[in-house]
Amino acid sequence: MLQGKTALVTGSTSGIGLGIAKALAKQGANIVLNGFGDAEGPKAEIAALGVKVAYHGADMSKASEIEAMMKFAADTFGRVDILVNNAGIQHVARIEDFPVERWDAIIAINLSSAFHATRLALPAMKAANWGRIINVASIHGLVGSAEKSAYVAAKHGVVGLTKVTALENATTGVTCNAICPGWVLTPLVQKQVDAKAAAMGLSNEEAKKVLLQEKEPSMQFTTPEELGELAVFFCSAAGNNVRGVAWNMDGGWTAQ
Ligand code: NAD
Repeated sequence: MLQGKTALVTGSTSGIGLGIAKALAKQGANIVLNGFGDAEGPKAEIAALGVKVAYHGADMSKASEIEAMMKFAADTFGRVDILVNNAGIQHVARIEDFPVERWDAIIAINLSSAFHATRLALPAMKAANWGRIINVASIHGLVGSAEKSAYVAAKHGVVGLTKVTALENATTGVTCNAICPGWVLTPLVQKQVDAKAAAMGLSNEEAKKVLLQEKEPSMQFTTPEELGELAVFFCSAAGNNVRGVAWNMDGGWTAQ
């Protein structure tokens, strides 16, 4: 379905980003990976799916590095057809104790990076009259949770940016939508499980249960593979007129 297209997925050396990159690769898209840590393993996993893969290690908190990454992607594959703004970090603390440096980093990585990558991707997408911008927001783009001020503010911002991007391009072949996962058991969430286990004297399994019980009626984690399939749908012809939605995959979190 996506042969000949190129997808750039930010923060795709791990977790949800890697899951989405693999799902798009399975549909034939060439992939540009980004993120910290080991890139060779993820690159090999994508290459094994029979598509071309490249990697750029831009720090998504820096506009100049995002510009270099977008130029690298265009130079390597000609154009970015699908942009998945996924890189993100978390920090948990009450507002009065929230480290200012963590606030700035979360707003930069979780929100401003999506603005920069989007503004740089749009001209080529519009020239081709086809493009897909998929923003990985969160259920925290729709509702709040205590001790996550920067994350909730950034993710609400991402949902707003999604709507404006969709509206500004509504008469073109470029769509923009957001994905809003509930709990997904990635390194980002395992840290929160570990903190709960330590604070409450629980085992890893017990702490996972407590985390789910607080928010998710399904008592199940959403998987990167499931989120990847939603991204594939947004890229399909059936997604042509899906514009500006924030689509939850949250086990019933926000139905309550
Ligand atoms: P993760 O920690 O597994 O992956 C995060 C990715 O972002 C990694 O590849 C990491 O290297 C990269 N990254 C972090 N800082 C970066 C930076 N400055 N520059 C470039 N790359 C950077 O986390 P995840 O759970 O897969 O999260 C991915 C996205 O999904 C995030 O935006 C997160 O907010 C969102 N999300 C996660 C959950 C969840 O339950 N895990 C729920 C809702 C939304």
